Amino acid sequence: MSTTTGSDARPAAPHVADSHDAIRVYGARENNLKDVGIEIPKRRLTVFTGVSGSGKTSLVFATIAAESQRMINETYSAFVQGFMPTPARPEVDVLDGLTTVITVDQQRLGSDPRSTVGTVTDTNAMLRILFSRLGTPHIGPPGAYAFNVPSVRASGAITVERGAKTKAVKETYTRTGGMCAHCEGRGTIPDIDLGQLYDDSKSIAEGAFTIPGWKSDSFFTVRVYAESGFVDPDKPIRAFTEQEMRDFLYREPTKVKVEGVNLTYEGLIPKVQKSFLSKDRESMQPHIRAFVDRAATFATCPECGGTRLSEAARSSKIAGTSIADACAMQISDLAEWVRGRDEPSVAPLLAKLRHTLDSFVEIGLGYLSLDRPSGTLSGGEAQRVKMIRHLGSSLTDVTYVFDEPTIGLHPHDIQRMNDLLLRLRDKGNTVLVVEHKPEVIAIADHVVDLGPGAGTEGGTVVFEGTVEGLRAGGTITGRHFDDRAALKDTVRTPAGALEIRGAAAHNLRGVDVDIPLGVLCAVTGVAGSGKSSLVHGSIPAGEGVVAIDQSPIRGSRRSNPATYTGLLDPIRKAFAKANGVKPALFSANSEGACPSCNGAGVVYTDLGMMAGVASTCEECEGRRFQAAVLDHHLGGRDISEVLAMSVAEAADFFGAGEARTPAAHAVLGRLADVGLGYLTLGQPLTTLSGGERQRLKLATHMAAKGGVYVLDEPTAGLHLADVEQLLGLLDRLVDSGTSVIVVEHHQAVMAHADWIIDLGPGAGHEGGRVVFEGTPADLVAARSTLTGEHLAAYTGA
Ligand code: ADP
Ligand code: ADP
Ligand code: ZN
Ligand code: ZN
Repeated sequence: MSTTTGSDARPAAPHVADSHDAIRVYGARENNLKDVGIEIPKRRLTVFTGVSGSGKTSLVFATIAAESQRMINETYSAFVQGFMPTPARPEVDVLDGLTTVITVDQQRLGSDPRSTVGTVTDTNAMLRILFSRLGTPHIGPPGAYAFNVPSVRASGAITVERGAKTKAVKETYTRTGGMCAHCEGRGTIPDIDLGQLYDDSKSIAEGAFTIPGWKSDSFFTVRVYAESGFVDPDKPIRAFTEQEMRDFLYREPTKVKVEGVNLTYEGLIPKVQKSFLSKDRESMQPHIRAFVDRAATFATCPECGGTRLSEAARSSKIAGTSIADACAMQISDLAEWVRGRDEPSVAPLLAKLRHTLDSFVEIGLGYLSLDRPSGTLSGGEAQRVKMIRHLGSSLTDVTYVFDEPTIGLHPHDIQRMNDLLLRLRDKGNTVLVVEHKPEVIAIADHVVDLGPGAGTEGGTVVFEGTVEGLRAGGTITGRHFDDRAALKDTVRTPAGALEIRGAAAHNLRGVDVDIPLGVLCAVTGVAGSGKSSLVHGSIPAGEGVVAIDQSPIRGSRRSNPATYTGLLDPIRKAFAKANGVKPALFSANSEGACPSCNGAGVVYTDLGMMAGVASTCEECEGRRFQAAVLDHHLGGRDISEVLAMSVAEAADFFGAGEARTPAAHAVLGRLADVGLGYLTLGQPLTTLSGGERQRLKLATHMAAKGGVYVLDEPTAGLHLADVEQLLGLLDRLVDSGTSVIVVEHHQAVMAHADWIIDLGPGAGHEGGRVVFEGTPADLVAARSTLTGEHLAAYTGA
């Protein structure tokens, strides 16, 4: 959706003599951009700054990166293009000097269960070659060490063409792969944790079942077991005979009569599988979802011990280490192991492997292991893993585009990230970075500051030049560049604590810690120290604890902030009342939808292996509604015009006058509160960044008071100026009775916290312990941890 603003103040003509030295953009009008014209120096590091919603993404991703992708598509043959919908050309008059763009973003890596850190970085491929050359016993080619290659033995006829003659030849084909046949290379097999279904020390009559909603008087659940005759309801479950246990857990559906009622009896495992595990997790009530998360487990495959590899692949070793052992090592340890191999016949391979593993360590990912499923990486980790592929590449004159590469990084790790960005530049590449952290802005060769505000108030270049120039200039970014949050004089007194005892998830070493309630508590530590493992793995779910994170919001492509927050309900009702028609008409998900795109506004084409492409629906021109629906108005606007408003505009619109709708106004107020005033009501959720998603979830939860919120780096995506607003919001939440626990790297948040729990001292097996707990002032005074040192430097203490 693009708007052309009738700005007549066109930028002055370019004056760079040689266009080879710059990427030139003129007349950029994607989203809120107002005829933006800039020249970006090539082979330099340019950082794009500006408040959230100012247009950084619209310029860097939706214009520059998108156009590069479109141009690459155009190089395909007409035949191939025939299968590809043409993505709309970005709204831009001139874009030249562009080199191939490689986008390194925070999109999570696919959740294919067979995708691991090792497979996505090609490190596994190198290890497979290494083992096929040096492993003893020798078991075959590299494929024999690959957990994603099954062993096959197939025979059939193939047709061989020789000149005009064809003849069928019988062929037998065998291939030895390294896949564990039992789990098919997944390493796990799905399982149910029976301990979550019942307490086996009790009998059914005593209420052994612990499944939510299973009441003792319910015919379909408890009574069908108690009165089936298959098991003794008065015997503790652990005393069941073998036959009883088999019937209890696994019996096939069987008709039974309970008090004259015909019912179907079925073993507990298939029953739970059907009634809970096969449902959509997202649409469950929270307590049901929590139960499912507890009960559905994936057990380690007993055949391969979770290594995914066949016995043969595991038997072949180099100096006592199998490929499975190598992949399970922490990468920093594996790098040492590789360094210890001295084998002239494979020297180039070893050098390349060393280089790749060292890149992991430099980028602050040395704590990962190659066998880590890629779907379990955070957005920031995924972005850095993708970076590994490029660090080893010999491409030059590529334009790399990064989206907040410091997300998830401790101040200590940012230094290393900076070095990597500079290295990419020094190889002859153009590096474009969207970033808010002053530490990264500081190393820029060139800064492009967008603004001055968000949404319609943004979309112009307010500053271009050096970091010094930015500091001296009067833009919001320039003014806040040297902002430092001060330590507070007084901190709040906790009102109780969440007691965590013996936490041992992942790298945690039996952590005992009290998380204070009724205060703002920050959990800190370098990447990989165990912060997420502690807050997500150890804080008991339920008990009013709400995790508000950056994970994708599942839902259709028609979901948007209005549908997600429930805002659309009062809006639909207001439209219906004003026009004397049904509310459902005003929903692009049901009756009112444009029949051609089903209300999506765009038509998607999935291209199999290539990324799907969207093009604007021709019927409704992206408005998503049937034409007739748009004849109904409220306060002079139709529903598609309302959905095109920003949160701030809509708050005015529904706040007073003809369209006054208090229920809508309240939701809009909360969205503005979390710093999303610039967001368009109808913007597809799929276009939101992780930080925006998290703040959207926060706004939605804020409707209910109290409880414990666990936030994951809520400053992600926030401009320095917006961080202050976030701190104000967190204060208001705490003051109104909510306990707030934040995993944070932003030092302004650390300084503002009432209590800090610092994990470390390092990452992976060098972390996993609480190295400090106390107030920020005490942390700074002690300077006993990395976080303490950085915070001391930051606050100038
Ligand atoms: P930034 O990256 O600086 O946070 P964006 O470029 O994401 O800013 O957003 C600039 C403006 O464009 C905002 O008002 C935002 O709501 C709007 N916008 C961004 N993406 C879309 C989209 N896909 N559809 C509609 N509006 C969008
Ligand atoms: P932080 O949140 O401080 O960055 P994490 O809790 O994510 O740290 O990671 C701590 C350790 O636990 C790391 O060694 C990491 O590799 C490991 N770890 C985290 N999540 C998983 C997972 N899902 N599977 C296996 N190991 C994990
Ligand atoms: Zn297995
Ligand atoms: Zn349509």
